[in-house]
Amino acid sequence: MTSDVRDHFPVLAQQVEGHALAYLDNAATTQKPRQVLDAVVRYYSESNANVGRSVHAMSMRATDAYEAARETVRAFVNAADAAEIVFTKGTTESVNLVAEGFAAQMVSAGDEIVVSGMEHHSNLLPWRRLCERKGAVLRVVPTDADGELSAEAFAGHLTPRTRFAAVAHVSNVQGTVNPVREIAAATRARGVPLLVDGAQAVAHRPVDVQALGADFYCFSGHKMYGPMGIGVLYGRAELLERMDPLLVGGGMVKEVTVEGPLAVAKAPTLFEGGTPNIAGAVGLAAAVEYLSALGMDRVRDHDAELTARAAAGLRALDGVRVFGAQQPSGGLISFGVDGLHPYDVGNHLSAHGVMVRTGVHCAMPFVDSLGVVGTVRASFGVYNTPEEVDRLVERVATAEKGFW
Ligand code: PLP
Repeated sequence: MTSDVRDHFPVLAQQVEGHALAYLDNAATTQKPRQVLDAVVRYYSESNANVGRSVHAMSMRATDAYEAARETVRAFVNAADAAEIVFTKGTTESVNLVAEGFAAQMVSAGDEIVVSGMEHHSNLLPWRRLCERKGAVLRVVPTDADGELSAEAFAGHLTPRTRFAAVAHVSNVQGTVNPVREIAAATRARGVPLLVDGAQAVAHRPVDVQALGADFYCFSGHKMYGPMGIGVLYGRAELLERMDPLLVGGGMVKEVTVEGPLAVAKAPTLFEGGTPNIAGAVGLAAAVEYLSALGMDRVRDHDAELTARAAAGLRALDGVRVFGAQQPSGGLISFGVDGLHPYDVGNHLSAHGVMVRTGVHCAMPFVDSLGVVGTVRASFGVYNTPEEVDRLVERVATAEKGFW
């Protein structure tokens, strides 16, 4: 990655706890480059108006910016049509929209929904709630001894009663890259729609939703250098046509009487009831342009190199366990230090300017299955450097030896 990348991120130029900031919590949320901050300020300074509601020139300008952002996101994930890109507030909302708006129509008592055993709560609880409400069965595909998922195991849990399936593209706990293409082939062959949670993938690797075979694909702007409060649901057009909205109200209808029939808008507007996060969409488009200018192949290689460096450094330390068996390439790594609670390791690292996440990472059943109370997770982004990885490893080594 070029050296000027760090200069694009104003937040990085500070000291924390008297040390240069090493921000290694990118899986929780990434920092924002000047290009994104400027795009949001420019939007509010020059074009702010509501979208799709007025004929005045400012509203037209805002509508154009919002729809241009949709097209930018479409191209980034190679959706066939911009109408397949629904703006939401993030991955969590996207999954809930599909669970309540789409899967709920297909699931009855005794039917099954299949998810993997490594899901984030946001791709677990919407399915659990739906199953509980309908008297359906949530089938959880167990991971292997290393906490990894095989396409065969996933396919083996699909039955004639399976109505829907959901899986993470990249695990937010171990960074495992799941065999989504193979899983999608298995679900497609059985006519089961598949949702892929791409929250930990889109910022780290090129994503082509059509090549993956995902029926739905969800992600969050704030984890890919974009603003908070904006996210995406990609859905294949023919499936979105059958989906109900989560929110009803302004913006998603064409004709309304108090009691008579409603004429509703088409996708994606149908699913964006209320005033959308226009500035967020504009900022997300700026983030996509930023990543595209860096080149997603380069981003993937950069993040994978840092992850592999961290894995090698940490594995060389006595008493440190790195979770997962894969050569880590997903942009994050989880580890534990013998005899130390993850929170103590996290505090020690923070005191030395190294920001990591500790705990169960909103994936409590999965972390429980690893037999630990939590992990320490370091996650990397475009601005991180090999020196920061080395600082992480050195500080873990001092924690491990009790030199605080
Ligand atoms: N899915 C995964 C794999 C995640 O890592 C996260 C966030 O950590 C989410 C879903 C939820 O994302 P958000 O909180 O942006 O809705």
